[in-house]
Amino acid sequence: MYPDVQLFINGIWRAATGGRTEPVINPATEETIGTVAYASRADLDEALEAAAKGFRTWRATSAFERYKLIRKAANLLRERADKIARIMTLEQGKPLAEAKMEVMGAADTADWLAEEGRRTYGRVVPARAEGVYQLVIKEPVGPVAAFTPWNFPINQIVRKLCSALATGCSIIVKAPEETPASPAELIRAFADAGIPDGVVGLVYGVPAEISEYLIPHPVIRKITFTGSTPVGKQLAALAGQYMKRATMELGGHAPAFVFDDADVSLAAKTLATSKLRNAGQVCVSPTRFLVQEKIFDQFVEQFSGHLAAAKVGNGLEEGVTMGPLANERRIPSIEGLINDAKQKGAEVRTGGNRIGNKGYFFEPTVLTGVTREMRAMNEEPFGPLALVMPFRDFDEAIEEGNRLPFGLASYAFTRSAKTAQALGDKVESGMMTINHLGLALPEVPFGGIKDSGYGSEGGTEALESYVNTKFVSQAGL
Ligand code: NAD
Repeated sequence: MYPDVQLFINGIWRAATGGRTEPVINPATEETIGTVAYASRADLDEALEAAAKGFRTWRATSAFERYKLIRKAANLLRERADKIARIMTLEQGKPLAEAKMEVMGAADTADWLAEEGRRTYGRVVPARAEGVYQLVIKEPVGPVAAFTPWNFPINQIVRKLCSALATGCSIIVKAPEETPASPAELIRAFADAGIPDGVVGLVYGVPAEISEYLIPHPVIRKITFTGSTPVGKQLAALAGQYMKRATMELGGHAPAFVFDDADVSLAAKTLATSKLRNAGQVCVSPTRFLVQEKIFDQFVEQFSGHLAAAKVGNGLEEGVTMGPLANERRIPSIEGLINDAKQKGAEVRTGGNRIGNKGYFFEPTVLTGVTREMRAMNEEPFGPLALVMPFRDFDEAIEEGNRLPFGLASYAFTRSAKTAQALGDKVESGMMTINHLGLALPEVPFGGIKDSGYGSEGGTEALESYVNTKFVSQAGL
């Protein structure tokens, strides 16, 4: 039921030249469930040639035709959602319901971007002389190279893929090697919908080797990356050297502010739901919980209770609310952060340990008594770890909230309209959600500031970085 994953180059599913494959591991059982093909340099050359050809075909295809094809693929995704979700849970670990939501959400994202593609309007600027037309034209930027991670195997690709396709760009996706089969099913939906050969390519391999080859390559005109800040900085530097457009969706360390006028039960429950999602392996996951002194104990008790009540297990099992961590190296990574914090005086309120020794399961963990000297307070945990600290007043909360170089997401709970408005103004993050969870819908902007990157992957802004603005001034004869 788990497929061996192939490359998709120039409209053909095939093995890598040279036949290299690597195993794919189920993080819930540690069993090898299949293999993924690793592209050679010859495969990349073929993918590049196909992307150049695909771009010529696709930019000449009308926006309306492109829209119809993307929407057809979205409907195929919906029809296949149950099958694809199982594949995703097997390779990534997340509960089946979360995997299915991701597939259905991808179809919605595809629909939105397809529609927006029909609205990539230019404009006519009034001229100074009679008979002159000053035209602002939006052109597709060209073949795109996309690099995406394993936490949302489909969602991280679909935003890039459909922004490229909707604007008339071709794209080569370097999908995650650890979770390769669900991305392949996403691409299959587009192939089966009838995308012309070469417009979409799919490769896997050694990430650094592929990015170092594709980014400088003259065929590629834009890159887009989702992953950690250190890798993003390397790739952005390389893109800069070759003057390539770049979108960077990088790490975060989201503050969640809970003020003493908030509905504390709502805050504890909502933030726990958000923390548990995908075992905390989410760039927008709430991480630093800044809670006003008066309600600190009440919040910690309720919030820890919700995390302790999570049913951790194999994502295929009924009732499981949190799956394993997605790969083995996350375990020492989280343990290292917790041990460092404990040594420096943090108190474990719930969790703190790996569960069993088969499968990468880890307890949802709440730490209090945290200080700025602790690594976890500065590095993105990317796991089920919540750091809760008290604050006295608004200014102190903002100072801690904005302390880190990250600026991706932020959360807040307050009944005061004045506080809510001030938060929107003062918090340095690309996205903020107040009194509910409202991030990452297709129709709203998605992206960070500061070390969390640049460019938006949602809303009407999503297509901006996939088009060039060209000016044509035309006088009548
Ligand atoms: P990592 O930094 O090694 O890799 C992160 C992602 O970047 C992976 O998908 C990887 O394949 C890719 N990558 C790494 N080096 C690359 C290169 N030179 N060229 C192209 N792609 C490259 O870390 P990891 O162990 O896979 O994940 C851990 C960290 O990554 C987390 O702590 C988190 O900060 C970050 N991460 C962020 C997101 C996100 O949604 N923003 C997703 C996954 C991982």
